[in-house]
Amino acid sequence: MDAIITARETQMDDLINKLEKKYSKIKFEESDKFYWSPSKEIVYYNSSTKDIDSSKWALLHEVGHALLQHKGYDQDFILLRMEVLAWEKAKKISKKFSVKIDEDHIQDCLDTYRDWIYKRSLCPKCSTISLQNNKDNKYRCFNCSSVWQVTSSKFCRPYRTLVK
Ligand SMILES: [Zn+2]
Ligand SMILES: [Zn+2]
Repeated sequence: MDAIITARETQMDDLINKLEKKYSKIKFEESDKFYWSPSKEIVYYNSSTKDIDSSKWALLHEVGHALLQHKGYDQDFILLRMEVLAWEKAKKISKKFSVKIDEDHIQDCLDTYRDWIYKRSLCPKCSTISLQNNKDNKYRCFNCSSVWQVTSSKFCRPYRTLVK
């Protein structure tokens, strides 16, 4: 067994043990990516990633969502708000676990979301930036009146399906 991989997994296990002790209501389960499932109340994590620091940060971020009891979202701007809040929570709790979250990493992650939301808001026909309707969550183009919907999963690409 690779010694570096072992050391990495030990560090992650250590942090998860501490998190489990502190937040006994949250369950943790190994997965291929980091995410929070509000329906199962499980934080999924991946301990076999290359970068141990960003793994710890991702784990604390998902715990942030869990502690804030974030549920599924329909609207893109709410998602962005939830991301900001989860990082703020992660920063707050990170001190208890002697983890220092890099501010640039947080901004990079938020930029990725902003970019993702921006792409979803572009009209697939004429590329005008449009607003999401708060009733049906579809986007409507002011310019050519196209209507499109976006996938609700944040793990998906900014997929746009033209409705009209
Ligand atoms: Zn998040
Ligand atoms: Zn358009």
